[in-house]
Amino acid sequence: MFIDSHCHINFPGLAEQQSAILARMQDAGVSHALCVSVNLEDFPQVLTFAENHANVYASVGVHPDHENIEEPSVIRLVELAAHPRIVAIGETGLDYFRLTGDLDWQRERFRTHIRAARQAGKPLIIHTRAAAEDTLRIMAEEGAAETGGVMHCFTESLEVAQAAIAMGFYISFSGIVTFKNALALKQVAQTIPLEQMLIETDSPYLAPVPHRGKTNEPAFVCHVAEEIARLRGISIEEVGEMTSHNFFRLFKAAA
Ligand SMILES: [Zn+2]
Ligand SMILES: [Zn+2]
Repeated sequence: MFIDSHCHINFPGLAEQQSAILARMQDAGVSHALCVSVNLEDFPQVLTFAENHANVYASVGVHPDHENIEEPSVIRLVELAAHPRIVAIGETGLDYFRLTGDLDWQRERFRTHIRAARQAGKPLIIHTRAAAEDTLRIMAEEGAAETGGVMHCFTESLEVAQAAIAMGFYISFSGIVTFKNALALKQVAQTIPLEQMLIETDSPYLAPVPHRGKTNEPAFVCHVAEEIARLRGISIEEVGEMTSHNFFRLFKAAA
């Protein structure tokens, strides 16, 4: 009924209780989850988890927040993405909030991922924070529209959402949309077409209301769907059905 399109089940806090997490997903009606890579070092762990569970997919990529770690090349990413359980390239993108100074390396790394996605023919998972303008510019310069993808844990304006949608990207909402003060984001969730939306937890971070402040997990994605349903005046079932359908359309993953 629901799919968590972005989680980090391999992170401390969740890694120790993977079978319990899968059981709670089932109880909450969360049929699938996409476990997203943030570096090459932990990639084998992420892949093994997806290989061992038919309802868990994986991605390959290096997060923009990780400085001074193994830098991925286009060839390496394409090679790793060839595995049938790897449905996307990422997470990648730009983050000018956590890091400052000369971030040329971050932009170069982002370009590398877009080139790899185009070569591999797989969609992108894009993280953008305090860097919307550069993110959209690099997406356009590198032809990201060719593969499409998702703007994950979206917190930007309606204009940024629309620009990304125009390039064939989906907009994914996390628990942030359930926060009382996230008024602008609630408006984005109300306005953009349901056909372009995904839902996610980004767990173990950003637990939605009513679990705010606790360790997040894929089962909680239903609260994101609930808030979107409330905002749009539709049923939670409709949000679940449409976002699941969108997930399979984007990631071409076998159910
Ligand atoms: Zn992210
Ligand atoms: Zn993430």
